[in-house]
Amino acid sequence: MRGFGETVFAEMTRLATDTGAINLGQGFPDTDGPTSLLEGAARRIRDGGDSVNQYPPGLGRPELRAAVAADRSRRYGLDYDPSDEVYVTVGATGGIAAAVLSTVEPGDEVVLFEPMYDSYPAVIAMAGGVRRPVTLRPTGPAGRFTFDPEELRAAVGPRTRMIIVNSPHNPTGTVLTREELAVIADLCHEHDLIALTDEVYEHLTFDGAEHVPLAALPGMRERTITVSSVGKTFSVTAWKTGWVTGPRELVRAVRTVNQFLTFSANGALQLAIADALSDVSGEMGWVGQLRAALAGKRDRLSVGLRAAGFDVTHTQGTYFVMADIGPLGGTDGIEFARAMPREAGVAMVPAQVLYDRPTEARHLVRFAFCKRDEVLDAAIARLGEWSRTGARPSRAAQG
Ligand SMILES: *Cc1c(COP(=O)(O)O)cnc(C)c1O
Repeated sequence: MRGFGETVFAEMTRLATDTGAINLGQGFPDTDGPTSLLEGAARRIRDGGDSVNQYPPGLGRPELRAAVAADRSRRYGLDYDPSDEVYVTVGATGGIAAAVLSTVEPGDEVVLFEPMYDSYPAVIAMAGGVRRPVTLRPTGPAGRFTFDPEELRAAVGPRTRMIIVNSPHNPTGTVLTREELAVIADLCHEHDLIALTDEVYEHLTFDGAEHVPLAALPGMRERTITVSSVGKTFSVTAWKTGWVTGPRELVRAVRTVNQFLTFSANGALQLAIADALSDVSGEMGWVGQLRAALAGKRDRLSVGLRAAGFDVTHTQGTYFVMADIGPLGGTDGIEFARAMPREAGVAMVPAQVLYDRPTEARHLVRFAFCKRDEVLDAAIARLGEWSRTGARPSRAAQG
């Protein structure tokens, strides 16, 4: 694991703390999830009973497995047996790790899209796998990121075992269309691949962009391990509760590995999440409001960044926008992101660290917009002042 040192997210968060900068680097909300969800967990822990404060069953609490199965059936028409096709993990991160470790043997190749979420290359390395990245590039007037089907085809070979698909995609904000997913599905059939999908932003899509699970495409349910979690949907990223759905043989393999990684996840939280997914107290309406608010925040930050001189690409979902530092004279995102907390009072993440081919994205940085409007406005004001004067606004002006 040499080469997997401190993550850039941790470095940028530390820089933000050290300099008092506004942190638009790491993607976590600065407001809480629905009160009923928080209260539901607190009440369960306090009341105890039903062994809620003891090890839950290895598969996860039956209430949450049933709620996940019902949710995926209702929204996507995908039916999973809660008794052995739904499995609760410590966050999506735990599910992704167990899925890769249970499927990828040393020397197996894994196709994935770059920019890539930082846990994918790390767990592929732990499994002894070899990653085959396919670059997402901005296309069209809005600069929506997508892949070239020919490049994807060329990345798949005789040793390819798995393809990892994250949609809605962090950090480009792309929501893959049914047509794009069909290209991936065809390759999976042709080469007998297992697909691992990361759908943690499944609810956070904007402007009517529709999230389509890869498992919903013809023949894909039987070869897809789907991972999602509570953190992004309900703004509780600390809760680290996720779920894996898939055909029982694949879920059994994931479970075999995970019983020796974390064994089980927090039981009281699982009960509260089960209620929220079942919309017991209107939590799904809360999610609808979050989605609308995030779309507004995306616009707010994009307008502000453009006014400060960045080029900003169009985001269809998630917490993030990608911005080009070229118009501001920036040539290296790492240098830029390391300097900006001190110079402008705003922290961001350089995109190139999420690529195997960093030259594809030296000019790009990622901003998170999942913050209160006043925080976004303050960051925009600081960036505007910096780009006008080349200097960080004075303490007094920062308010
Ligand atoms: C936040 C995030 C995760 C992690 O989810 P947890 O449930 O907190 O482990 C996984 N994948 C992507 C793309 C993310 O942005």
